[in-house]
Amino acid sequence: MVSVVLACLIFSSHQNSMAEVFLKRIAYEELLKNPQVLIEGLERSGCAAHFKKGEFTALKIHFGEKGNTSYINPNFLLPCVKFIKSTGAKPFLFETNTLYHGERMNAIDHMNLALGHGFGKLNIPVVIGDGIRGADYTEITINQKHFKSCYVAQGLKDIDFLLVLSHFTGHMLTGFGAAIKNIGMGCASRRGKLAQHCQVSPLIQEARCAFCGACAQNCPAGAIEKKDGKYVVIKEQCIGCAQCLSVCPKGAVNIVWSEEYNLIAEKMVEYAFAATKGKKCAYINFCLYITKECDCMNKEKSSFVKDVGIFFSRDPVSIDKASIDALLQQEAKDSLREAHPQIDYLHHLKYAQDIGLGSLDYTLVEI
Ligand code: SF4
Ligand code: SF4
Repeated sequence: MVSVVLACLIFSSHQNSMAEVFLKRIAYEELLKNPQVLIEGLERSGCAAHFKKGEFTALKIHFGEKGNTSYINPNFLLPCVKFIKSTGAKPFLFETNTLYHGERMNAIDHMNLALGHGFGKLNIPVVIGDGIRGADYTEITINQKHFKSCYVAQGLKDIDFLLVLSHFTGHMLTGFGAAIKNIGMGCASRRGKLAQHCQVSPLIQEARCAFCGACAQNCPAGAIEKKDGKYVVIKEQCIGCAQCLSVCPKGAVNIVWSEEYNLIAEKMVEYAFAATKGKKCAYINFCLYITKECDCMNKEKSSFVKDVGIFFSRDPVSIDKASIDALLQQEAKDSLREAHPQIDYLHHLKYAQDIGLGSLDYTLVEI
């Protein structure tokens, strides 16, 4: 049931009380014609009042892998960025490098890709928070089931306000990806991403290896050795930093995607908890151009359900649950489950509530 509530949101990092989620029903093409509605959403949700003069205000975003077209359209953000600047806050685009090979694996290629995907028109800096090679992290203690501490992007610690802009999609590992995935996986350093994805260290594929030795030279743990003419990872010494993946010129270092779905999801949630611990945050979910897989896919994908609209909240669990509920209600069936029948996508939302990341209960406010 939808109730109409006007509220000024008080931001705190983690909470379990019922949150408000604000929804503007709009389609992709409509939003392109009228991106001003984002400002309306920021104001109605109370978020706008929290942009502060001089504060480093990160817009956490996913630029889309090269070849992908479904990422958040930078044209949506033009008036919003102008508005944030007018408050005196210092907005910038914030992202981290990927674990796997591609155009977003180091900060230089990543920033060039962001420009290629049109984000230069926003005329604000792009910060890749885990450094040029994804090796820069800060350790945050959380004492949860899987992790006592997490290795999040170092740049995160200097952010005053984290505005998380997420494209809601289906996902092959977690069933869907939105706010929690954007902060959990998306704010982790490469070492943190590897810790979420794998229980094992990387493997070197001999067939692709050029025997240049770069991986061994750059391994901070001395965990790569040449044995019988081949480079091998010594599991016992590996610290899972993933540096070897980024330096290999041949793409010969690979990850073993062996984790169970629920385990990956729980680890991602714990990283989301770490990334937002003690931080002022707000969330916007774009439930538009919803694809079966995430924007890491390096090809054009068509949407598989109708657009819902844009959601605003201070609670990452509530906003993701509200996005799913609205989609299911609109479709009158569980399209996410049909797309990824092997995954219980509610598992990570329940776990997120259990550890205090946010609340599954929310009040929906249509704007
Ligand atoms: S992940 Fe890090 S520690 Fe492990 S082999 Fe690669 S470079 Fe070495
Ligand atoms: S960096 Fe890559 S190509 Fe060079 S030795 Fe290591 S695995 Fe082989």
